[in-house]
Amino acid sequence: MNEITATILLKRGREKPVRNRHPWVFSGAIDTVNGDPKTGDLVQIATAEGKPLATAYYNPHSQIRARLLSWDTDEEIDGRFWQNKIQRAVAGREWLANDDTTTAYRLINAESDSLPGLIVDKYGDYLVMQLLTAGMDVRRDMIVELLADMLSPKGIIERSDVPARQKEQLPQVKGLVWGQEPPSPLVVMENGRFFQVDLLHGHKTGLYLDQRENRAVITQPAFVADKEILNAFAYTGGFGLYAATNGAGNIVNLDSSIPALEIAEANMAHNKIDRPDDEYLAGDAFEVLRYYRDTGRQFDMVILDPPKFAHSRKDIDRATRGYKDLNWLALRLLRPGGLLATFSCSGRISPDLFQKVIFGAAIDARRDVQLIHTMGQAADHPVLLTFPEAAYLKGMLCRVW
Ligand code: SAH
Repeated sequence: MNEITATILLKRGREKPVRNRHPWVFSGAIDTVNGDPKTGDLVQIATAEGKPLATAYYNPHSQIRARLLSWDTDEEIDGRFWQNKIQRAVAGREWLANDDTTTAYRLINAESDSLPGLIVDKYGDYLVMQLLTAGMDVRRDMIVELLADMLSPKGIIERSDVPARQKEQLPQVKGLVWGQEPPSPLVVMENGRFFQVDLLHGHKTGLYLDQRENRAVITQPAFVADKEILNAFAYTGGFGLYAATNGAGNIVNLDSSIPALEIAEANMAHNKIDRPDDEYLAGDAFEVLRYYRDTGRQFDMVILDPPKFAHSRKDIDRATRGYKDLNWLALRLLRPGGLLATFSCSGRISPDLFQKVIFGAAIDARRDVQLIHTMGQAADHPVLLTFPEAAYLKGMLCRVW
């Protein structure tokens, strides 16, 4: 697995992204494959003239034919290589490791940590691993061993049940791969708040860790104290829980998932918060917001954190219409001077386009909307500058008159 089994010659004029250290080589950029590389094998990427540029792992079944690992063509891709990359990713989260108010965070963010296709999240004493590519899938045993040796978790859960694996012709896989099962319930801490997580059945790897910093930003007491809040797309109630601890008035946590709302309610108990007037509402956010509009229900703050609307380029138009409708409805529910916290996790929708969509919603709703804070994904989800595709989450906190 550590041997280079083929050389891939790029088409003339297609080497620039490789020189600029973009980690992907698409099938269309490849001229010739010299050798017979198997799925996950190491290959050398070279110019049309045969000058070596980088070392990659290969997948003949994916449009992304090779994912680049090293631009030093003399570097061995062996156990040491992977160990060093993991060590570097872990070192980049030292501030979180030292923060005893937060025990759940992302340790390895795939391409952006120079480990293409590998995601590892830490939940207290447990790790959750996602292998998104065939190149990582064939290295499962080695990765698990390294994680176990280097990080001494109590258990490692695999959550390779993600649609992206279909593009690599990989099956959906989940389960315990090392050590012991987490206790049920497993409770972790985020900025001093307790969260119950279900590592095997929860969304993503259990929590939306990418929102951790935004939860703190938009629920500052100055924004939420005594305010009536609609937390739409609440999942396990993250934003609502922070708001509750910062003195919010009544909170409606709205989500289509009943199990998620049950955990949201349990989270209040884990934090010893007793709020009998809060609502946990299972339903479709579009329908509920329309119902609130028709019945004249108003809020001081509306939080919109919907799932990804655009999965590919062809979805962009439909997705922007969805975001516009949703935000238009939310604007109609806000009292003058109220706050809209609106997010999009569709990587295909740029921050610029997202702002234009909210602008369109503001015009149609005839409201003055001031942008008071722009947001992105938490710092444990870094974006490698040579791989801007890694930036997907954007948010705007707006005051609405
Ligand atoms: N804000 C959450 C994360 C939200 S993820 C947090 O901070 O943890 C998106 C959520 O939207 C998921 O929980 C999903 O169950 C929910 N969802 C998806 N479609 C929905 C719909 N049409 N109406 C309401 N909720 C929906």
